[in-house]
Amino acid sequence: MDVPNFYNLTLPELAEYLVSRGVKKFRAQQLFRWIYGERVKDFEAMTNISKALRAELPQMLKVELPTVLTEHLSTDGTRKYLFDMGEGKSVEAVLIPTAGRLTLCVSSEVGCNMACKFCYTAKQKLQRRLETWEIVGQFMAVSERLPEGMRISNIVYMGMGEPLDNCEAVFRSIEVLHSPWGMNVSRRKITVSTSGIVPMIPQVAKAGVRLAVSLNAVDDETRAKIMPINRRWPLADLLQACRDHCQQTGDKVTLEYVLLKDLTDSLKDARRLYEITRDVPCKINIIPFNEHPNSGFHRPSEGRINRFQEELMRLGAHVLRRKTMGRDIYAACGQLTTLQEKTPKSVELAPVPQ
Ligand code: SAH
Repeated sequence: MDVPNFYNLTLPELAEYLVSRGVKKFRAQQLFRWIYGERVKDFEAMTNISKALRAELPQMLKVELPTVLTEHLSTDGTRKYLFDMGEGKSVEAVLIPTAGRLTLCVSSEVGCNMACKFCYTAKQKLQRRLETWEIVGQFMAVSERLPEGMRISNIVYMGMGEPLDNCEAVFRSIEVLHSPWGMNVSRRKITVSTSGIVPMIPQVAKAGVRLAVSLNAVDDETRAKIMPINRRWPLADLLQACRDHCQQTGDKVTLEYVLLKDLTDSLKDARRLYEITRDVPCKINIIPFNEHPNSGFHRPSEGRINRFQEELMRLGAHVLRRKTMGRDIYAACGQLTTLQEKTPKSVELAPVPQ
């Protein structure tokens, strides 16, 4: 039998597995504490576990994280990690330091099938969905590289892939990272972002985490042009799912809105955006388009970005501009890819701390 990877199991699953191997249930909590809490991966160092069991554990469990292939450091402090996912496949995770927070943006899939026209990741078709341990592993491997005392405070499922196209692994990874016996990340500090897979949106409320939705356009025609998924689930359905989510959780949803020059950035668009979202408890996060090779789209001028934001503010919307982070290392929103040949040569490789 294949030895399961510790990072692939939720606490109840680990307990059940151990019990099936004749080990007491409470050992699962001890292992969670050691491996997540104390960052001790060597069974021999787990002093509250009997010697005999310590010797048996390696035959029952492996404790393996995905390998970090490269780490890039941006001038603004953002770090981008490239993870080996086997068979030549890889994904990226981005660590974003902002005032009082350290946010990790994790990937959920290798490539993506949503085919959003403005997104760099979408140029790579879905190759495979990540498993639980590979998502948990991004968090753990990055955590291991942080200086003592530093901790990732927030997790956003906004990296490569569509999280709601990989619900099983995504929500299991949330359960693992949330576990008070594990990393104890509060559900309030975890956000799942979707391009709009409407029937899966209720799962976000069920998991007790925050919802972000990539709205990106204010009418079905424009949205369908840049986000093919809109043909399946149009704006009315998507906004209804948002309202339902808010009603059920008492939460606000984050509506992401990518500003594309001459396509989604007019004052008329801003007013329409206000109109269609005024009955959705939300905050609007505008994201000026981040360039990537041959996208065919452009970032609006600063003046236009500001006017768009000001118009929404004037109308009374709760609107924030997402600060562009890590653009120099291709780590900004919509710039993640593992199409190596297209990654700009100017990217400097920062030394990977051992
Ligand atoms: N698939 C999920 C998770 C990815 S989140 C989703 O679509 O929500 C990535 C965010 O970056 C999305 O809101 C997306 O609309 C936005 N984005 C994609 N490409 C971009 C680009 N080139 N510039 C700015 N934002 C972009």
